[in-house]
Amino acid sequence: MKLRLSTLISGAVMLELEHVTVQFGKRPALRQVSLLVRQGEIVALIGANAAGKTTTLRSIMGLKEASAGTIRFDGENIAQLSTVDRVRRGLTLSPEGRQIFPKFTVYENLLMGGYHRADRNKLDNDISRVFELFPRLGERRHQRALSMSGGEQQMLAIGRALMSRPRCLLLDEPTLGLAPIVVEEIRRIVRGLAADGMTVLMAEQNAAMALDVADRAYVLESGQISLEGTAAALKETPEVRKVYFGARAGGN
Ligand code: ATP
Repeated sequence: MKLRLSTLISGAVMLELEHVTVQFGKRPALRQVSLLVRQGEIVALIGANAAGKTTTLRSIMGLKEASAGTIRFDGENIAQLSTVDRVRRGLTLSPEGRQIFPKFTVYENLLMGGYHRADRNKLDNDISRVFELFPRLGERRHQRALSMSGGEQQMLAIGRALMSRPRCLLLDEPTLGLAPIVVEEIRRIVRGLAADGMTVLMAEQNAAMALDVADRAYVLESGQISLEGTAAALKETPEVRKVYFGARAGGN
C-alpha cells in the first residue's frame, strides 16, 4: 500500500480545482476550493451534510457553474465545456441518490449511460463488461430498476457511469443508506476499479469507509477545505477522529 501511494503521489495530475467558488444566489456553497486528483488515485471528499460535496462534483461536471476559479482536466481548462463534452473528455458522475431511470430495465439504464457515444456498436460489449463486474446486474438485466434493492440500484448507477468509458469516475455518496455488507461490496468494487487503472474522486459522509478505501482525502466544512492529506494520516488527526469517529480530540 505504501509503495502504491508513493507511486500515485508522484503521478500526473488528472483533475485540478483551483480556488473554485460556487454560489446559490448570493450564498456561497463553495469558497475557494482547491484540490487535485492524480492519475490512478482514489481521493475522498468527506464532510457533513451540506458541506458542499455534491456541489463540488456537480461543478466539475458543469452541472453547476462556478462563479470563480479554475477546473482543469488533463491540464485543459474545462470551465467553458458542456457537460457532454466533459463526459467525452473522460469524466463521469454517479450521482447522489443514484438517479437511475426507475421504469427502465437494468439493460436500458446501462444503454442510457452510453447515449452520447459515437461508437454505439460497442455498447453491448461494454454492457457485458459491466455484467462481469456486477454479476447481479447481469442476472437482473430484464428487471425494472425500481424493483431492485438499494445496493443493486447503486451498482447500476456505477455501471451506468462506466458505460461512458470514463478515465475519472466521480462517485457521490455511493454508500448512503446501504447495509454494512453492501457498503463492503461497494468498497471492494471501488478498489477493483482503481486496481484496473480508474481514477476516482468519491464524496462520502461515511468517513470511515472513505478513508479506508482512499489514498488521499480532503475534508470539506461549510464550503471550504479544512484539512487534506493521505487517508492514513487524516484518520489519525484529532479533528477527524473527534468528528467522524466519535473519539475525543487528543484522546483515544
Ligand atoms: P449532502 O450530503 O446533504 O448532499 P453536500 O455536502 O453534498 O451535502 P451540497 O448538496 O453540495 O452539500 O450543498 C452545499 C450547500 O449548498 C448547502 O448549504 C445547500 O443547502 C446549498 N445548496 C445545494 N443545492 C442548492 C440549490 N439548488 N439551491 C440553493 N442552495 C443549494
